[in-house]
Parts: sequence; structure tokens; C-alpha cells
Amino acid sequence: SNERQRKPEWLKTKLETNDNYKEIKRMMRSKTLHTVCEEAKCPNIYECWANRTATFMILGDTCTRACRFCAVNSGMPTELDMLEPGRVADAAEQMGLRHCVITSVARDELLDGGAQIFAETIRAVRKRLPLCGVEVLIPDFMGNDLALRKVLEAKPDILNHNIETVERLSDKVRSKAKYSRTLALLKRSKQIAPSIPTKSSIMIGVGETWDEILQTMDDLRQVDVQILTVGQYLQPTKKHLPVKQFYTPEQFAELKKEGLARGFSHVESGPLVRSSYHAHEQVQSATAS
Ligand code: SF4
Ligand code: SF4
Repeated sequence: SNERQRKPEWLKTKLETNDNYKEIKRMMRSKTLHTVCEEAKCPNIYECWANRTATFMILGDTCTRACRFCAVNSGMPTELDMLEPGRVADAAEQMGLRHCVITSVARDELLDGGAQIFAETIRAVRKRLPLCGVEVLIPDFMGNDLALRKVLEAKPDILNHNIETVERLSDKVRSKAKYSRTLALLKRSKQIAPSIPTKSSIMIGVGETWDEILQTMDDLRQVDVQILTVGQYLQPTKKHLPVKQFYTPEQFAELKKEGLARGFSHVESGPLVRSSYHAHEQVQSATAS
């Protein structure tokens, strides 16, 4: 059937805003910066920005991939903005961020996948805001080891790379990414920089079974991932992958227990949890352990 599934009560949120929020929005426009918070109409935006956490999307707004769950435009990006790291640092400073997440589209047409700009952005934010936690949520760089090294050499506080879904559904849900390559990247990160905590995220509701979710947790623990987020998949438009199942808040709570029992040092699991939700708390618990 084409009918979109009705959202359960616990997923209905209204976007709260205030003057501070509007001011930040204007500042983003004036610097031609993109935040995932805004682009994804993230329901947590008010809480996150009030907590001085934001997620910047660097390397443009056009992705060389086209994952079936993702609302970002796909196509061939045209340019590389060498001044972007400085503008992200300016914005982070103006927002007085305590935790800054830097992510990007996939830029498979570039030799290093954009790793250099990631590294420069980490350094620029560090320089301006020495106390701000810096987390990077990176693409897989097509498995390019040198690119991963470049990012790690800039010493982010957290190296995040999403597995997104269970092994059986990976090729169907993600574009060009491989389940095994994601695990290999997370493993390699620990070999290159053992002191940098790694993090990954599973979005559920695309047709996986409960046991497959647990297996994915096991696979992530196998490569020593410390921080896990689990959230409900929501269909961004009718053209995207349909939602197969809405998990209840109780089921998310159960998954959090399962994760902690497997040895993750921090698990955020809930219907509205997104990769960067409560990210500042995650860095604290990961470095404290
Ligand atoms: Fe932004 Fe992430 Fe918070 Fe959503 S959860 S508002 S994307 S920082
Ligand atoms: Fe979206 Fe990332 Fe997939 Fe690109 S690689 S389509 S930005 S999820």
C-alpha cells in the first residue's frame, strides 16, 4: 500500500523556537553554513542549541551517494570551499558551543574524500574554542586509510561513523557503503589512534529483526566501539524507504540495556535519538571510563 503509516504519539513533537534560535539561524545564513539540525528539521534542535551542541554539515550540500533513507540532495558536487573551516569555527564561537559535531556528505569524487577539510575544521574549532568537544561523523572515504589518518591526526574527541542498519539490509538501505567496510574503518581507527573513542549509530524500523539489531551491537563491540546511538527511522519523503516498524519507548529502553550489557560505555536509545543527540554527555562518559 502507498499509505504512509500513521506516526505514534511519542513521535509527535512541535518545533519550539525562541529569539536566540532565530538569531543563530540568521548567523548560519550569513556565513552560508549548513547544520544538520536545520536541514534535517531535527526535533531536538531547541534542546541541543540551548545545550550549546550543534552539528555542522561541511563539504557542501550535494552528496555523491544516494542512500534510500536520506534527504540530502544527490548529484555531482562542483567545488571545494577552502574557507569553510574558518567559518565553522566562527559560528561555533558565536554560538559558544560546548560540543561541536562535524559531519559531511560523501565526496567520492575527491581523492581524499574531503578528509583534509575535516582535519582543518577540527583544528580551526580547537584553536578558537579550546574547551569545546569536537566530534566528527565521517563518511567511509571508500576505505582510504590515508584519509582516515588525516582526520585522526587532527585529534577529534570522538570518531563517529555510522553503521546505520543491520548486515542483511545494508546494501539495500545505504548507497555504495558496505557493512564490512564500516566495521573495518572503526577497527582501523582504534589501531591508529587507540585513545580516541569511537561511536556508531543504528537506525531501526527499516525491516530488521530484533536479533539482527543485537548482532549489529555485537559486531560493533567486536571492533571496540564505545558509544552507541539507536533511533527510529522516519521516512523523510514518500520517495524514501518506507517505515516498516515503529518501536515503542519500552523497546528502546530494552535496547539500551542490551547495549550496556554488551559493554558500550554510553548508549543513547530512543525514538527521537539522532546520532548527535546528547553528544556532549557521551564524550564525558567515554573519556571518564
Ligand atoms: Fe542538531 Fe544533532 Fe541536536 Fe539534532 S540531535 S539538533 S542534528 S545536534
Ligand atoms: Fe545521505 Fe550520507 Fe548517504 Fe550521502 S552518504 S546520501 S549524506 S546518508
